Amino acid sequence: MSSSPEILTFEAARHLVEEHAKTLRPRGRELLSLLDAVDRVLAEPIHADRNIPPFPRATRDGYAVKAANVQTVPAQLRIIGEMKAGSAIGELSLGTGQAIAIMTGAPVPEGADAVLMIEHTSHNDDRLEITKSVSEGENIVPAGAEGRKRDLLLQAGTRLDYAAIGVAAAVGRSRVLVYEKPKVAILSTGDEVVDIDVPPAPHQIRNSNSYSLAAQVHAAGGEPVILPIAPDEPARLRELLAEAFDCDLLLIAGGVSMGKYDLVEQELAALKAEFFFTGAKIQPGKPIVFGRVPCGADVPVRQNGVNHKYFFGLPGNPVSTMVTFEIFAKVCIQALAGLTPAPLRFIHAKLKTRVQTKTGLKRFLPAQLSGEFENAEVELTRWQGSGDIASVARSNCYLVIPPDREQIEAGEWVPVLLR
Ligand code: AMP
Ligand code: MG
Repeated sequence: MSSSPEILTFEAARHLVEEHAKTLRPRGRELLSLLDAVDRVLAEPIHADRNIPPFPRATRDGYAVKAANVQTVPAQLRIIGEMKAGSAIGELSLGTGQAIAIMTGAPVPEGADAVLMIEHTSHNDDRLEITKSVSEGENIVPAGAEGRKRDLLLQAGTRLDYAAIGVAAAVGRSRVLVYEKPKVAILSTGDEVVDIDVPPAPHQIRNSNSYSLAAQVHAAGGEPVILPIAPDEPARLRELLAEAFDCDLLLIAGGVSMGKYDLVEQELAALKAEFFFTGAKIQPGKPIVFGRVPCGADVPVRQNGVNHKYFFGLPGNPVSTMVTFEIFAKVCIQALAGLTPAPLRFIHAKLKTRVQTKTGLKRFLPAQLSGEFENAEVELTRWQGSGDIASVARSNCYLVIPPDREQIEAGEWVPVLLR
């Protein structure tokens, strides 16, 4: 039961989610010390505080010379001193007929415009013999070549991975402004579902979805908020939905199939939900639902003035829950965390064992990737279907099978979604 139930192709559904994700904004910003900000999203631009490198830097061990003086070889120069990494700029300067011993990372002294590699020289006390000419600028990185003072080095919206952390450190930022993490409500539904610290009766199923989803939310840059399990009963479900919409995004697991007790869509419709799709031609995860509710009496407004909140109704079968999170929900959490929405990234690997499927659905099946570079191979993990979480845990990727392929032979290069 929904305003316009629609089952889309994977591509159409994904495109729609990406378009909506682009409209999402983070809550606010906070100042963190640099290492607390690892993997967070930068909320301010970071500029060079001085030229990088700050001085012309030698990239080889050898001799600082004036190139014009060593165009005809063999040539002789007199060594007048040494510059090492840490030697002060201006400590030495080069005159006619002279060379200065220099180490990698040292400032190139005034008067020199090239560094001769040590391999192309020999010396006897202060007499340097040069066997190969050098051109102007060789083995020197000019001051400011990697960045001029005030250049933009990192944009807001960048994830602070190790390289970005390195840049921030290089410009002396021991504290950085990052976006606050979005709060993501996780609501598992089902009369058969019990929490993990309760001994389950024989007919009951432990709530694994709230926990696997919490781990996925965390990895995507969100803060998971696990709500109590909702029974298949409208009044309590309604109550929990109202509570869940305090958060920035809602993930509901279960209750979105076509069964008599699949009440989620009905209760969302009561909150005036707009449904963008109520299914996608994928497997696992076909009954996936995506939509939003207007803010109002039951749904509090977000701080930044956005007047609706988004939700995903993820199918309750644990593998379906995991896969639909990865291919649909994750991009919304990344956007709420401040990252610019990016397409899913696939790699290609050689299929190890022939695969046979029925056509009509795009499949994301648990698989194992092994081998490196041109030897990358992928093979489906044996599984019992969308309930088989252990098979996903034994896998390290999803093999993607297009909806029009009935069989794929071993040796064909196939797309793989990494985990
Ligand atoms: P549903 O989407 O509600 O029809 O649920 C589909 C299947 O997933 C059922 O067999 C449920 O027992 C199982 N399931 C639903 N919710 C959970 C959960 N939170 N943890 C583990 N399994 C679940
Ligand atoms: Mg259910």
